[in-house]
Amino acid sequence: MSESTRTTDQLTFDNPVSRHPDITPPKQDPPMPGSDAELEPQTDRGQTSYRGTGRLEGRKALITGGDSGIGGAVAIAFAREGADVAINYLPAEEEDASTIAGLVEAEGRTCVRIPGDITDAAFCKELVDRAVEGLGGLDALVINAGKQVATASIEDITDEQFDQTVKTNVYAMFWTVRAAVPHLPAGSTIVMSSSVQAYAPSDDLLDYAMTKAAMNTFSKGLAKQLAPKGIRVNAVAPGPIWTPLQVVEGQPKEDLPTFGKGQPIGRAGQPVELAPAYVFLTSPESSYVMGETLNVNGGADSP
Ligand code: NAD
Ligand code: MG
Repeated sequence: MSESTRTTDQLTFDNPVSRHPDITPPKQDPPMPGSDAELEPQTDRGQTSYRGTGRLEGRKALITGGDSGIGGAVAIAFAREGADVAINYLPAEEEDASTIAGLVEAEGRTCVRIPGDITDAAFCKELVDRAVEGLGGLDALVINAGKQVATASIEDITDEQFDQTVKTNVYAMFWTVRAAVPHLPAGSTIVMSSSVQAYAPSDDLLDYAMTKAAMNTFSKGLAKQLAPKGIRVNAVAPGPIWTPLQVVEGQPKEDLPTFGKGQPIGRAGQPVELAPAYVFLTSPESSYVMGETLNVNGGADSP
C-alpha cells in the first residue's frame, strides 16, 4: 500500500505479510549519502500512518541519521508520541531532513536540525551540546547513523572504507554517548541501531557486520554500567529494511530487485515497522528492559 492510500495505522489488526507491499526495486545508483526523496520505490516512514498514544510525552530526544530511513521513521513516531527531537544528518541531506522536520513540527513538537559529519570527534561533542541547548535538556539518545558498503572480496576493502565504516558506526557511537551521558537524568534511554549482521554476517559485509557486533556488545556492557544511575541502554537489530543506505552502496546492484525476499515473511521491511521497537525501548513502559537487543527482521534466526 502506498503512503497516500494507507488508511490504517500500526495498531490495526491485519496480515503482516501483506501489510506492506512485496517490493521489487529497480537497479539504481544514486550518489552518497543517498536520499529518501529519490528512492524508488518510496518508503513508508509512517508519514500518514503512525499513530501516537502519548508514550513519550515531554521527552527530549537526539536521533543520529534522523533525516531518512529508520531514523526518519523514529523521529516521526517520537514526535507523535509527544517528544521534541533533534536530528543529525550530513549537510547533503537537507532535503530529507526538512521533510522530517516538517512532519515533526506538524505535531506541534520542536525539531532541532543539526547537520554535520559524525566521523569528527569534535563535532560529536558539539552535536550533543547543541541538542541539549536546543531541546532544553536530553533524556533520549538514538545512535542510528550508519555506513554500509558491500564489497565482495576482503582484498577490495580499502583502508579508507574500513576507516570510514568503523568511524561512523563505532567511534561516533562512542564519542556521542560519552558526551551525552553527563546530561542524562535518571529515566533516560539510549537505543542503538545494530543489525542482524551482528550475528549473521553476509560474506560481502565484513567490515560493516563487525561494527554492528561491536555496537551490540557495547550496548550490553554500557547497560550494566548505567543501570544503577537509572539510564537504560538497549539495541534494535533490523533485518533487511528498504532505505537509502541499501541503494547507495549497501547492496550489490544486481541484488536490489530481490532485496528482502529471502526472509520468512517474504518481503523487505519498511522503516515504519521499526519505529515501535524504538518507541518501546525509549518509553518508561520498558523500565526493566536493559542490555536487550530487539530483533525486527521478518523471521530470521536470532540468538
Ligand atoms: P539511511 O541511509 O536512511 O540512514 C543512515 C544515515 O546515516 C544517513 O541518513 C546519514 O544521515 C547518516 N550518516 C551516515 N554517515 C554519516 C556521517 N559521517 N555523519 C553524519 N551522519 C551520517 O539508512 P537506514 O537503513 O535507515 O540506516 C539507519 C541505521 O540502521 C544504520 O545504522 C544501519 O546500519 C542500520 N540498519 C539498517 C538496516 C537496513 O536494512 N536498512 C538493517 C540493519 C541495520
Ligand atoms: Mg539519509
